[in-house]
Amino acid sequence: MIIRAVTKTQTLETENPVNFTKSQHPKKLRQISDSKNTGQATKPANPKGNTDMRLQGKVALITGAASGIGHAVAELFFKEGATVVASDIAWPQTPHSTGIEGIKLDVTSEVDWSKAVSEIIKKHGRLDVLINNAGIIAYEPLLELDMKNWLKMIAVDQTGVFLGMREAVRVMRKQKVGSIVNISSIWGSAAVAGAHSYHAAKGAVRNMSKNVAMTYVADGIRVNSVHPGFIHTPLSDAQSPELNGSVIAATPMKRGGKPIEIAYGCLFLASDEASYITGTELVIDGGYLAQ
Ligand code: NAP
Repeated sequence: MIIRAVTKTQTLETENPVNFTKSQHPKKLRQISDSKNTGQATKPANPKGNTDMRLQGKVALITGAASGIGHAVAELFFKEGATVVASDIAWPQTPHSTGIEGIKLDVTSEVDWSKAVSEIIKKHGRLDVLINNAGIIAYEPLLELDMKNWLKMIAVDQTGVFLGMREAVRVMRKQKVGSIVNISSIWGSAAVAGAHSYHAAKGAVRNMSKNVAMTYVADGIRVNSVHPGFIHTPLSDAQSPELNGSVIAATPMKRGGKPIEIAYGCLFLASDEASYITGTELVIDGGYLAQ
């Protein structure tokens, strides 16, 4: 775990402000603190005037950033010069580099979304990038899926993305610029048996992204989806070794991905390097969907 020295620690003025410290390091998150695995920042942060940074001057909000892919995205974006607001359903949890702002945001809550974005605008005056990353997974096939579990999945993995895009687009339209990246999955465009609600939600995220991309293209807003294959995170590591092993065996590269490998895709789409890219799907899956 690398904590960088910075001149100032930033915290949003919310009900649950958090300053991340090295000592906050729950067991379940130990894996993501491995710099080889997650892309924890290793360079000095954001020196003034360094124009090489790919997100310099941008304000980015990331959901589900306490863990896994979202955590790696937050660290990488910070390293690349963004003002990073890392949100998750519960804080305090994770050691982020000092300088990253923490905020509680349950993506299923309209109130949380409204508060989070208005706090960001109050403090920073703009929102340039939204990474809709928060998500859960479930495996019930159609006939074993009850209403409660169906609605839970749709609330987090689909409605969360709807609420986030709606809140961000309101702001980005006024700015006439913005980039939204929605984390879908290989299961958002291809199927395996079971996991009916997850397939439903991730497939919806894919097409919701294209729809918002087309609807607000004239407003300077780009919207793209990222489709990870199997990635080693607390979410996937909690699954059975047999299940994980079967997905990895079916992956041409014969390994699971690392959160940083998804974070780099998000970085590209969030940055101005992707200025001519909207409504597309970036698949990062070790070749799985190419078969
Ligand atoms: P992860 O390590 O579990 O991280 C997801 C984070 O989202 C967790 O911190 C989780 O908190 C949080 N979260 C859950 N419900 C939330 C809510 N209502 N509001 C805000 N935050 C919430 O999982 P991950 O593997 O990094 O997954 C990140 C995204 O990638 C998800 O959308 C997932 O579907 C997608 N994805 C992952 C893989 C993979 O193989 N790992 C593959 C394809 C797509 P708790 O831990 O407290 O629940």
